[in-house]
Amino acid sequence: MSEMKLFNYIANQWVESASSDFVDVINPASGERIGKTPLSSKEEVERAVKAAKDALPVWRRIPAQERVQFLFKLKFLLENNLEDLSKIITNECGKTYEEARAEMRRAIENVEVACGIPIMSQGVISEDIAPGIDEIMLRQPVGVCAAIAPFNFPGMIPFWFMPYALACGNTYIVKPSEKVPFTMQKVFSLLEQLNLPPGVVNLINGAKDAVDALLDHPDVRAISFVGSTPIAKYIYARGAQNGKRVQAQGGAKNPVIILPDADMEMATRITADSAFGCAGQRCLATSVAITVGEARTEFVESICEAASSRIVGYGLDQGVQMGPVISAQSKTKIESLISAGVSDGAGIPVDGRGVTIKNYEKGSFVRPTILLDVAPASEIARTEIFGPVLSLMHVQSIDQAIELVNSGQYGNQASLFTSSGNAARRFRYEADAGNVGINIGVAAPMAFFPFSGWKDSFFGDLHGQSMDAVEFFTQKKVVVERWPREWSRKF
Ligand code: NAD
Repeated sequence: MSEMKLFNYIANQWVESASSDFVDVINPASGERIGKTPLSSKEEVERAVKAAKDALPVWRRIPAQERVQFLFKLKFLLENNLEDLSKIITNECGKTYEEARAEMRRAIENVEVACGIPIMSQGVISEDIAPGIDEIMLRQPVGVCAAIAPFNFPGMIPFWFMPYALACGNTYIVKPSEKVPFTMQKVFSLLEQLNLPPGVVNLINGAKDAVDALLDHPDVRAISFVGSTPIAKYIYARGAQNGKRVQAQGGAKNPVIILPDADMEMATRITADSAFGCAGQRCLATSVAITVGEARTEFVESICEAASSRIVGYGLDQGVQMGPVISAQSKTKIESLISAGVSDGAGIPVDGRGVTIKNYEKGSFVRPTILLDVAPASEIARTEIFGPVLSLMHVQSIDQAIELVNSGQYGNQASLFTSSGNAARRFRYEADAGNVGINIGVAAPMAFFPFSGWKDSFFGDLHGQSMDAVEFFTQKKVVVERWPREWSRKF
């Protein structure tokens, strides 16, 4: 495959970065370089911010119902380009074509929900708070907003934010992950076809320098971040210190409890899809399965069978169920964490280390791995692995299982498999996690719900998607108006 070139998109122009620093973009299945991400400078970010700021007065004056007409067009462009976009995602990120398509469907769903902004962003009015006085709360755009995205959902994650920000009258800058920049380049080629006023949407490629420039620029009013917990904490602190609104989603270590009354066939199939789908590189991937009482024997046997039979390979090849992890470094890190787990005493009935896939010998593949009897205090039990590795633990009661779930540092997702409504209700009530699944392995909120996340999985208060996004991308203005009745006598 020939290498592709990357550009920034500023004020409706594709511009080449002047940077001489690049990060290689590698197809993780073939190991081939498919391009190089320029690490844009502070000055280049400043040009994008200026373009976005200049566009604000024009864009915010366009009525919301006209602004969403651009989103209706975008939805159809995304639908018509679904196949191309999905293939780009597979080639730069590694997930299978079906997984990439599902990712883009959620992106499109967010565009659809944001088309409801004319009603979602309405204000409120109280008439006669005193004689002749009314009080109004209206919502106005925040200003220039920016998204900083991770590698694992190159197509979907900017859409948790951008459609809402635009529909609410803000202007926008996207900084994709330097590991997977081509999906957003394609998305911006579609945005270009909308003929938006120049500067309404802007794309900046780069890494830390570009992020820091966004965090420090006084004209950037809101930052949406998704990525690992240490960087989320950093973004939240530095953005807040600079007076910005920040929502920062971090990493995860998602547990699932399997009760003895669960439908074992379903629990196994769904847990395997959650743990090994997208090669375990979903922030909602199940990473720890806790069996309770008699659930252990059957579940251990069936999950080992599901892990060993998964078909691993290049995501565009027919029948492949799981692709590579993102990079050679990531493969090395995952394999050394597995080894540390084994050294700490875990069993390894299914070992995915050290594999090569025929015709893709340079790919970064790790096969599904099961670690048995993982000690709750061990490193592997606490660390986000972000690979296709499922740790199994065993307890005697639901109380112990919930305690184990709630003892973790993260709170992105927790799931339970059971046929008991009572156990389900208790779990929903007590689980310390922002997204909860009952007989569900990837409890990904639809676009009309907030993408929640608690504890070290989220810093901020308003989440992406839905009404939370409307709150985040608007600032409330309260107006108290007096119109004395006697003035009307003049006319
Ligand atoms: P990452 O934190 O390495 O990078 C995310 C973004 O931050 C990238 O755009 C990157 O360029 C930028 N960045 C990296 N280091 C930086 C630094 N020192 N200073 C400033 N910016 C920096 O994350 P990743 O590896 O791309 O993505 C995987 C992580 O994202 C996992 O931890 C996963 O759980 C998490 N994630 C969370 C959610 C969620 O909803 N909570 C969703 C998807 C991914």
